[in-house]
Amino acid sequence: GHALVWFRRDLRLADNPALKAALDAGLAPVPVYIHAPDEEAPWAPGAASHAWLHRSLLALDADLRARGSRLIIRQGDSLAEIEKLIAETKAEALHWNRLYEPASIARDTRIKQGLKSRGLHVESHNAALLVEPWTVQTGQGEPYRVFTPFWKNARQRLDATMPAGAPRRLPELPPMLAGLGVEDLRLEPQRPEPRWDAGFWEHWVPGEAGALELLDAFLDGAARGYKEQRNFPDRIATSKLSPHLHFGEISPRTIVARVLAQAWPAAVQPDIDHFLSELGWREFSHHLLFHFPHTAQENMNPRFREFRWARPDARLLAAWQRGRTGVPIVDAGMRELWHTGWMHNRTRMVVASFLTKNLRYHWKHGAQWFWDTLVDADLANNTQGWQWTAGTGADAAPYFRIFNPVAQAEKFDAAGKYVRRWVPELAKLPDAALSAPWEHADLLRRLAPDYPPKPIVDLKASREAALEAYSGPKTKP
Ligand code: FAD
Repeated sequence: GHALVWFRRDLRLADNPALKAALDAGLAPVPVYIHAPDEEAPWAPGAASHAWLHRSLLALDADLRARGSRLIIRQGDSLAEIEKLIAETKAEALHWNRLYEPASIARDTRIKQGLKSRGLHVESHNAALLVEPWTVQTGQGEPYRVFTPFWKNARQRLDATMPAGAPRRLPELPPMLAGLGVEDLRLEPQRPEPRWDAGFWEHWVPGEAGALELLDAFLDGAARGYKEQRNFPDRIATSKLSPHLHFGEISPRTIVARVLAQAWPAAVQPDIDHFLSELGWREFSHHLLFHFPHTAQENMNPRFREFRWARPDARLLAAWQRGRTGVPIVDAGMRELWHTGWMHNRTRMVVASFLTKNLRYHWKHGAQWFWDTLVDADLANNTQGWQWTAGTGADAAPYFRIFNPVAQAEKFDAAGKYVRRWVPELAKLPDAALSAPWEHADLLRRLAPDYPPKPIVDLKASREAALEAYSGPKTKP
């Protein structure tokens, strides 16, 4: 007999519990991908996610073919397509790995109920998280809202056993069973050359093999010194696993097991603990989104319900999006994002603070741009990252902690390597002028005539206005 294995964001063969469950039951897995982006509305995947997905699906299909199987691709309403596939294959079971976004949970629940009442064996599994959101609770039986106690609790439950590898062979599919080609889904940018994603693929190899290569490289290299070095945007000092984790090309369990299997010198232990805690932030984001699903649209902290955000000016918003704010570290981050589909965590915080504090725009304007442009766009992590930086989140940096982009550049890009790389028109300025070039008007005019002569908002005045808006109108004594 057959079992449908419905691939979604678990695009791998190793440590794939849905695939394994089908094989363990003695059924021949039918690997299926159904393209139904509207079912994830209002957070249907953005353009950069789709460009990644195109390549990831090609990689998964190739990995399946190397084992004697193949990926059956369909498009349309998921339930309707699954029903057709059940009829075509006479499948006895349906397995999938869980998603945690509110729209996906609602759809999956509907599908499970619809099919179960017809006597089909339907089972979901955990492939994406180290700890399921409903298994970690405070002493009072509540979900956590603060990271440190959450992670202290969750960390104790980490399983260090090495997960199952990819199956060596898979049963052949019935020859008549047909599907679409990946190209038919039109996931890649359709506009003429030069395509906006042209630069992405010098940086990324979507798919399971690319993910494992990055993990090996990280464990052999940047893991040592991670705790300090991870703050510097000009260095290869983090794993860059985020898009692979988002699409499930590697499991967090595999990462943890590989990290814990290695005998690290005592001096490296703080680096390892810190790296695990970043995976812990990913868990925490999913915990928050699962328990507080409204936070994908609304402030977690109700105090901000009445907050006076500024009404976005289309020109200023576009200047932020395209890296033309006149603040070099902000522009470098936004251009790194545009050119590679990724931005360093340090600059994500800096550009988000600039948008939500200096421009005082609601964080959702930034979250939406990130959603369309990041290859690692992830509803849980993006929501949490924006709410944290905006100061509206659960365990947020307080609103009055406003990143000073000049000080950030001086501290984390002192030699200007990051700014020179992504804002090449500033390359000729001396290091000392790179963090606040408007203070060196002559040099700027002479050496970088194409760069904005001053920031689109005055940093000091906008900072004070933000603090004023936060504390509310001052009452006169
Ligand atoms: P590493 O430092 O190697 O960390 C390993 C893994 O831990 C990452 O791949 C990621 O899965 C997880 N992780 C690390 N930092 C965080 C964090 N702060 N929160 C949650 N998980 C984390 N991350 C996304 O994956 N998708 C997003 O859409 C996203 N949007 C963000 C928006 C803002 C405004 C901010 C401030 C952060 C956002 N992050 C997001 C978190 C973080 O910036 C990225 O996960 C990280 O930069 C990815 O690089 P890396 O894989 O080299 O990280």
